Amino acid sequence: MKGSRILIVEDERITALDIKYRLEDSGYVVTGMASSGQVAIEKAEGTRPDLVLMDIMIEGDMDGAQAAFQIHTRFGIPVIFLTAYADEDTLRRAKIAEPFGYILKPFEDKDLYTNIEITLYKHRVEQELKEKEAWVSATLKNMADAVIATDTSGTIKHLNPMAEILTGWTESNAVGKPLSEIIQVSYINGEMITDLVLKVLENGVFEGRDDEDLLLFSNGLKYPISITGTSIKNDKNEVIGIVYVFADITRQKQEKENLLNAKLSAETANNTKSEFLANMSHELRTPLTSIIGFSDLLLEETFGELNEKQHKYLQNVSSSGKHLLDLINSILDLSKVEAGKMQMAYEHFNVSEVISEINAIVVPLALKKGISLDISIDPKMHNMRADKLKFRQIMYNLASNAIKFTNNSGHVYIEGTLSGKLAQFRVKDDGIGISKIDQLKIFNPFTQIDSSSTRKYEGTGLGLALVKKFVELHGGYVWVESELGQGSIFSFIIPYDGVLPTSQKQATDKLQETSI
Ligand code: ADP
Repeated sequence: MKGSRILIVEDERITALDIKYRLEDSGYVVTGMASSGQVAIEKAEGTRPDLVLMDIMIEGDMDGAQAAFQIHTRFGIPVIFLTAYADEDTLRRAKIAEPFGYILKPFEDKDLYTNIEITLYKHRVEQELKEKEAWVSATLKNMADAVIATDTSGTIKHLNPMAEILTGWTESNAVGKPLSEIIQVSYINGEMITDLVLKVLENGVFEGRDDEDLLLFSNGLKYPISITGTSIKNDKNEVIGIVYVFADITRQKQEKENLLNAKLSAETANNTKSEFLANMSHELRTPLTSIIGFSDLLLEETFGELNEKQHKYLQNVSSSGKHLLDLINSILDLSKVEAGKMQMAYEHFNVSEVISEINAIVVPLALKKGISLDISIDPKMHNMRADKLKFRQIMYNLASNAIKFTNNSGHVYIEGTLSGKLAQFRVKDDGIGISKIDQLKIFNPFTQIDSSSTRKYEGTGLGLALVKKFVELHGGYVWVESELGQGSIFSFIIPYDGVLPTSQKQATDKLQETSI
């Protein structure tokens, strides 16, 4: 190869110069010339040539064979010997240096170049092979799985360190032994797999995964394992061996069992919680209804006039009672959805009418804060099919939040549009906004961004959790777009006729998976 760098070691100056010119004429670079072994080693180390041309018989204490041995072993540089004659002892020592070629003096240019090119090529291939071996052996050594390689008769050829740990055999003791002496594999029912080698040879591969419950017996112990056996083929496509990869899955099995148990106990606990809440809510609602009912009755002053203080305190009793009732109803709804006991009551209704009802409830609050409230509902939405009460609750929660979290003189905008079979609603405000990080949690129950005791806004942190559940019960999804200080847009999509078309169902399922 033109440009290859060559060191010449030759003690006859004229011959050395002759070789140098011949090499340079052919495009090689001569990195130096040395006439003794010691100098050759120094120059090889200093100039790192691609190849050394070495006369075996050179001056000094160290002959060419010894110098070549050092150059090859210390620096990995290939050496070609130049020799006119040599006694048997010198040749024997020359062999130890693993020379890449011999050139007999005197030589033609052609012999020199052919030898150099073959040597450079051979060396490059050897280097690549060595590198590949280093990769493979480091990978095998560091693998968390056990690897055992056998020939086609099942005789062990190789064990990696993990296989040594798993089987209790060292590689040197195991090599040459039949595979069946080191490991046995059985199904969980005790049936042994006696033809592990045959199974791979017949099909090219054998796989036993963790769900097949395979056991490995080795070193007097047994482990649950996953196993893969694959045949190794040469370049003629002949099977020359098998490689087995085993993984001890004791931990995975244990973790799977723990997870399953944890899931079961969480489900039981959740069901117990839901039942408890359902019962408690009933027990709490009955007396609360009396408190609210009787305080409202007294406020009507049918049973006598109230003085200012009595009126004020009774109003407190009534509004606190209502607040508590709202909270209990929300908790009950949420636990019902979680327990899968929430029924859907689909009916046809006019969207504008429901939104007007909501408007009537929230407008006093908006007026109080000087907030303008605009509504735009697609006139095509006159006959939507959904659970009316839940839809009303969703819209109420979003609209009252928009007003609650918007400062005085702000704007709130409610919009409903129909596109194909999907109804989309948006509640937009120019209020306090929500940071990206908080957007990730606001749909979780009992989450309020400001939950401090000095917080400015009242609430339970259940409104958006219910919105999400109710929208999902309709087969839809809900999301928020917001920036702190810039206002928020809460949007949701539900099927207009209560049925989700298949293609859209897949799309919304996907969005639900990624939605918050
Ligand atoms: P809350 O009863 O506190 O309103 P929600 O579940 O309805 O409970 O809302 C959870 C939290 O999300 C609120 O406490 C508030 O911090 C935030 N949030 C909801 N809607 C808005 C909005 N329109 N603008 C700003 N923050 C909002």
